[in-house]
Parts: sequence; structure tokens; C-alpha cells
Amino acid sequence: MSLGCKICDDLALKKVVEEELDKHNTYAFISRVQEHRGTKVSPETISNHAKHREYPPPDEKPALPKRDLAVLVRDKMYDAIEALPADAMLIKDFQPALGNAIRAQGAIDKRETKKVGNQTFILQLAAAMGERLGLTSGPDVIEGEATELV
Ligand SMILES: [Zn+2]
Repeated sequence: MSLGCKICDDLALKKVVEEELDKHNTYAFISRVQEHRGTKVSPETISNHAKHREYPPPDEKPALPKRDLAVLVRDKMYDAIEALPADAMLIKDFQPALGNAIRAQGAIDKRETKKVGNQTFILQLAAAMGERLGLTSGPDVIEGEATELV
């Protein structure tokens, strides 16, 4: 993408250098490694390349099957939680449903070994609950009595 960039001009070199950059090796280190491999490329060149290199698009969420019960339950629950009045969270009857949503997320997470962390949904829920309950301190602190969900 850059004019006159030795690294961009050499796809094989580009691949190797970017792999090294991804490992957070220094420009000087990468330069030395390349020299050992027979390709002279200065730390400056690597530095310049690092500035204009194009990163692959960030990991996209893995495509899920269109009809996935766990996903459906989770999404419906999430929508429902968002639509609930603030005090609904405190109603005991609501909590088994919340437990189901969390279990649904657990099932999803088991299948997705990717980066969609276990905690993402829990944190989202906590944040949503926090908002609903008018807490200002975010998901870290949720006041009130703890109730076992499971
Ligand atoms: Zn370049």
C-alpha cells in the first residue's frame, strides 16, 4: 500500500516481518533476524512499514447457525431484560429466567472456543441490570442481596 516500501513489495518478506511484529519483537531485532536469513531490511524500513501496514480485520464473531436455540434464548432474554422496568430484576420469579439465559450463554460459549469470552454476556447482563437499577458504579458493584441462580 505504500510506495517504495521494500517490505510491501515483497510478499514473503512482508509476511515474515508482520509475523515478527505481531510477536512484538523490536525493529532492530527483526532487522537482524532478516539479515541472518539473507534479506537486508533496516529497522527504519520496518518501523515505517509498521506504521502503514494493514491489519487484518479484527476477529469477527464466528458465524452461528441460523437457528440456534441457545442463541435464541440468550437474545430473547437480553431483549427482554432491556425492555423490563427497573424493579423487575428484583422480582424473584424473574431469576429462574435469568438463570436460563446464563445457562444458554454457557452452552454457546462451550461451542465457541473463540474469543467470545464466557464473561462477556454476564458482564453485559450485569451492566444492563446496573443501568436498570440505576446504579452508577458499573457492573463491578451490584448492591442488594445475592441470590443463587442455580
Ligand atoms: Zn510497507
